[in-house]
Amino acid sequence: MPKSQPRILLIYTGGTIGMIENPVSHALEPFDFTHLIDNVPKIKMLNYCIDNISFKPIDSSDMNPDHWVDITRAIEENYDRYDGFVVLHGTDTMAYTASALSFMLENLRKPVIITGSQLPIGEVRTDGEENLITAVQIAAARTPDGEPMVQEVAILFEDYLWRGNRATKRSADNFNAFKSHNYPELAKIGLGINFHEEALMRYPAGKPRPLKCHCVLDKSVMIIDIFPGIKPEILRHQLSTPGVKGVILRTYGAGNAPTASWFKETVQEAIDRGVVVLNVTQCVNGSVTRRYAASDALARAGVVSGGDMTTEAALTKMMFLFGAGYTPRQVGELLGVSLRGELTTHS
Ligand code: ASP
Repeated sequence: MPKSQPRILLIYTGGTIGMIENPVSHALEPFDFTHLIDNVPKIKMLNYCIDNISFKPIDSSDMNPDHWVDITRAIEENYDRYDGFVVLHGTDTMAYTASALSFMLENLRKPVIITGSQLPIGEVRTDGEENLITAVQIAAARTPDGEPMVQEVAILFEDYLWRGNRATKRSADNFNAFKSHNYPELAKIGLGINFHEEALMRYPAGKPRPLKCHCVLDKSVMIIDIFPGIKPEILRHQLSTPGVKGVILRTYGAGNAPTASWFKETVQEAIDRGVVVLNVTQCVNGSVTRRYAASDALARAGVVSGGDMTTEAALTKMMFLFGAGYTPRQVGELLGVSLRGELTTHS
């Protein structure tokens, strides 16, 4: 039976939603949680039990894996006491945080809904009030059987709920700032909240496994974007960065890269040194394949296909896998396995 009064924990990390204008510079700066919640008096109308944890509010450009550990621990420590969690976060790195949390929270069976806004909550036309209230409602939503409707990390923004590790920030201006280009929305927000149950994460029936949190992330990873005119010495220098264990190589189209022998040889040298190289596409939609000679050569050199993973998911998945202590070979194998619904696999 659904509980009469859902218990929701708000975790405030900062972002535009809680910012106010500096009177001197007129730049937006992070501000405290009381200011934020005072601007949403309507939230009381939900009649939920809502508690909060507030971290030092930051612009999410300052977000880093240590913050992800703090958020993960806050969820872990409060997991049994709440029905759902809402993380208030800046939009700039929201998709990275959503992806990281999805890997860090194994066996998650409760909603972790991340939201923020494009306009501060104190502004007349703010999108923050609506996003916050809708996120809280989604965190409290139940199936007819009384199970949490959402059992994964998701991003709620304006009209849509997206799987967290599938979403990308696509607009610096529009209220619909996020999109998942390779996976359908989990819910469409209109007059009501229309959940798409076929897209939501569902687990086999039986006793759920307990939540397992992974709080070690390895930052020895990097992203390399290829571009026409990329110079051999620059690529070689990047791939030889001391200490780097994994590289996200962002290629063209279906995973294509220059066919010049120096390119393949440079990548091959890194792989031979034990660096894991993962191929993801610079396109927002579609997948890395071996359709062209220009992509097949990379695969033959030992580059792992990132399929249709977002860059954000690929990067945080590598941090998670290396942090968990897997060998480069195991990391390469697991990158090709969908661990939290971040990747479309064809059996
Ligand atoms: N710079 C802000 C942040 O990510 C942007 C936002 O929240 O929309 O914290």
